[in-house]
Order: sequence, then C-alpha cells, then structure tokens
Amino acid sequence: MKIKNSTFVISAVAKSQYPENHLPEFAFAGRSNVGKSSLINMLLGRRGLAKTSSTPGKTQLVNFYDMDGLFRFVDLPGYGFAKVSKVKKEGWGKIIDTYLNEREDLIEVFQLVDIRHKPSGEDKNMYEWIRNCGFNGIVLATKSDKLSKNQVAQQIAMIRKELKMEKDAVILPVSSTSRDGKYEVWDVINALFEA
Ligand code: GDP
Repeated sequence: MKIKNSTFVISAVAKSQYPENHLPEFAFAGRSNVGKSSLINMLLGRRGLAKTSSTPGKTQLVNFYDMDGLFRFVDLPGYGFAKVSKVKKEGWGKIIDTYLNEREDLIEVFQLVDIRHKPSGEDKNMYEWIRNCGFNGIVLATKSDKLSKNQVAQQIAMIRKELKMEKDAVILPVSSTSRDGKYEVWDVINALFEA
C-alpha cells in the first residue's frame, strides 16, 4: 500500500473529540522515547508528520492521522515518565482505556518496545492490556539498527519470552533509521485491512 496523503486530524483527550466518520484504525502504543513518532513517519516516508512526543505535557493526547481517507493511524500517549504524578498516570490510564475499549473502529494495536532492553513492567502491562481488550497485539521492536543481526535475533527471542507471547504472535524488528521492517509492517497492515 502506498499512501499519497497522510494528514494530521486531531489530538484528542476526550472521546467526544475522536473523528466521527468511521474508518479502520491502527494504533501505536509504547513508552515515551521508544521511537513511536519516528516509526510512524518512517512508515509514511515523511518527516515531521507525527511529532516527537518526548515532553511530559504531551503525554495525554491521542493523535489521529488520516491515510488517503482510507484508514487512520492513531498515536497513543506514551508511558513511562518517571516524573509524571500519580494523578496524571491515572489520567493516562483512563485515556488509553477509553480508546481501547470503546473505539469501534480500532482494528489492531502495535506495541513498540526498545529492542535493546528487557520489556519494562509497564511494557508487559500494556501488552497484556491490549490482549485483554481482544486484540492480537503486534509487537514492534524498535531501533534494530543499534544491534547486529545476531543480537537482533537474540533480543527478539528474549522479548517474546518476557512478554509471554504466544507462538503465533507477531513480533518484528524495526528501525526508523535503516527502515528495517518497513515492508513487513505494511504487509501486516495490508493483511489486516483486507481481512
Ligand atoms: P517517541 O517519544 O516514542 O515518539 O520517540 P521518538 O520517535 O521521538 O524517538 C525518540 C528518540 O529515539 C529520538 O532521539 C530518535 O531520534 C531516536 N530514534 C527513534 N527511532 C530510532 C531508530 O530506529 N534508530 C535509532 N538509532 N534511533 C531512533
């Protein structure tokens, strides 16, 4: 699939702000700084569409992007800010919960984890949450350019184990820098879109 026009639609907090017209949505979740914005931009072959979200103030927004009027990418608020207050963390939880549980247009959730590290407790919770909401949860292990091929294979196996992924569950190494995984991710999206 080649997207000609990808446009920012809205940064929503409340459900009432979500786009009203029904289009299939693919969401991206992950810790802040995991490379979520970079990956969305890489998949679209664009710079600067998805904004890097590494400021705590921006943690609570659900960003919607329209793809040729055919479907949407949804950038979910990142987690893992040590400095964020408990109240904010609860707010974050509610925002994600509302989106995952109440968004009828949501087809699948991609969860990003850093390929170099063991998934954090929050990563594990997020993956479980996605699964409990009835989605497969496609895991994307980011920044694969930082490792050798051997290390990539090792880390993928380690992440699979840590997240307790089922045998047929999908995990792909990706890199916004080397564009590793770009076509594999699009293959997954195409398959889901056509299903
Ligand atoms: P977000 O907070 O999840 O949206 O993360 P960003 O996309 O803003 O990326 C966080 C940092 O990681 C930035 O400094 C990026 O340049 C860097 N980064 C993102 N993706 C990659 C990647 O694939 N490879 C490398 N080496 N660095 C990356």
